[in-house]
Amino acid sequence: MKVYSLGGYEEVGRNMTALEVKNKVLILDLGIRLDRVMIGEDTNIQNMSTKELDRLGAVPDITPLKGKEIVGIVISHGHLDHIGAISRFVGKFKCPVVGRPYPLRLLSSMLKEETTPVKCPMFEMHDSSIVIGDFEISMIPVTHSIPQSSFVIINTCEGNVVFTGDYKLDNHQELQRPISFSKLKKLDPKLLIIDSTNVIQEGITPSEKVAKTLLTDYLKMIEDSRNGIVATTFSSQIERVFTIINQAEKMGRKPVLLGKSLCKYYGLALEMGLVKKNVQMIRKREAINAYLKDVNNNKKDYLVLTTGSQGEKEAVLSRMVDDKTPYKFENRDSVIFSASVIPNPLNKASRYTLETKLKMKNTSVVRDLHVSGHASKEEHRKIIRTLSPEIVMPCHGYPDMLISMADLCYEEGYDLNDQVIVQRNGQSFQIG
Ligand SMILES: [Zn+2]
Ligand SMILES: [Zn+2]
Repeated sequence: MKVYSLGGYEEVGRNMTALEVKNKVLILDLGIRLDRVMIGEDTNIQNMSTKELDRLGAVPDITPLKGKEIVGIVISHGHLDHIGAISRFVGKFKCPVVGRPYPLRLLSSMLKEETTPVKCPMFEMHDSSIVIGDFEISMIPVTHSIPQSSFVIINTCEGNVVFTGDYKLDNHQELQRPISFSKLKKLDPKLLIIDSTNVIQEGITPSEKVAKTLLTDYLKMIEDSRNGIVATTFSSQIERVFTIINQAEKMGRKPVLLGKSLCKYYGLALEMGLVKKNVQMIRKREAINAYLKDVNNNKKDYLVLTTGSQGEKEAVLSRMVDDKTPYKFENRDSVIFSASVIPNPLNKASRYTLETKLKMKNTSVVRDLHVSGHASKEEHRKIIRTLSPEIVMPCHGYPDMLISMADLCYEEGYDLNDQVIVQRNGQSFQIG
C-alpha cells in the first residue's frame, strides 16, 4: 500500500490524503484553505480557476496522483477544510463520494452553487460497510464540532487503516453519542492517520457541556437586561446554535438566525431531523436589514445569532458594527463570541478589528464562551493505546503539531525511525 500526504500536512486546511492499493487510489477528504483566498476584498471562490486556487495554496496539489485511477473520495465530516475542494476535482476524477448523510448534503449544496454545477454519484454511509475497488470502507461515529463526524476505517488486502478525521472524545454531547471503544478495539490497524491540531494541549479538551454551561451562566447573568444581545459562533456548530436558541427562549427572547451560512447549516440539520426546534432564519441582505430595523426598536425581545465570528468583512456582524444595517450598537448591548479565532494571521487581524469597533461603541464584548472541537494530548493517547496501530502518521496540522504527535507516539513506545511517519505535503511512502 502506498500512502500519499497531499494537503493539511503543513497547515490547518486543504486536507487530503490518499491510499493506493493494486494501482487503485482512494482519497480521504479533499478540503480547501480559505485564509489563502479571503485576503483579497470581494473574493468569490466560484469565479476563481482551480489553477489560481492551486497557485495560492488554497487547494491540495494533486500532481502525485497524475495518471492514476481514482476510485472514490471518502469524507470524514462536512467542514470546508475537508470537503471544500471536492467540487474542483470530482469532475476530473469521475468517481463517487462516500460519506454520512449530513456531510453529503452539505457537499451537494456546494456542488450546486458552483458556476458550472458539478454532479457526481454519492454513497450514503450508515451502519454497514461499502466496497469500492479493493477498499472496504466503514465509519465509526465520533464527537467533533459538526454533526455526523466519523473515524473512517479502510480494510484492504494489504492491511487496515484508521483515518480519524477531526475528533474529540466528548461524553456529553446532545447530538452525538461518545465513540464506541468496543468497536475500536476490534480493528487492529496497520496504519493510524490521526488529527494532530490540538495534541500540543496537555490534558483533555473540555466537553461541549462546558461551553453550554458558560453560555447559559452568562445569559442568566444578563436575563434582566432590556438591551441588545447578539451572539455569534461557527455556523456549522449546530449543537452550540441549538444551546443559544434554547436559552434565548428561556429568557423570553425570540431567537433569530441571520446570515446565509448559519441558515444553511442549521436549516439542513433541521430538515434532516438532527435538531427539532424550528426558528426564524433570514438569509438575504435586504430581509436581514428589514428585520434588524425591528430588532433595533425592540432590543429586549430578541436574541440575534449572526454569522461573522471570525470578523469576516461581509458577514452580518461586521455589517452591523459598520452601521450598514439599521441596528445601532450602544452601551449595555452584549456581543457574545462563542467561537475561537481560527489561528491564522488574517482571521486574527479581522477579529481584532471587529472587537475594537464594538468596544469603541461601548458594547460589552464577551469572548471565549467556547470549547475546541479537537482532542488534546490525553485523548489522542487513549486512541493510540486502544487501537495499538503498527504505524502512526500524524495529519491535520503545521509541522510543529505533527511533531508533537510524534513525541506522544515516542512516549507510547513507538520507534521514531520506522513506526511514526511525519510527512510534508506532496510526499508518499510505502507500507507492507
Ligand atoms: Zn479540519
Ligand atoms: Zn473539522
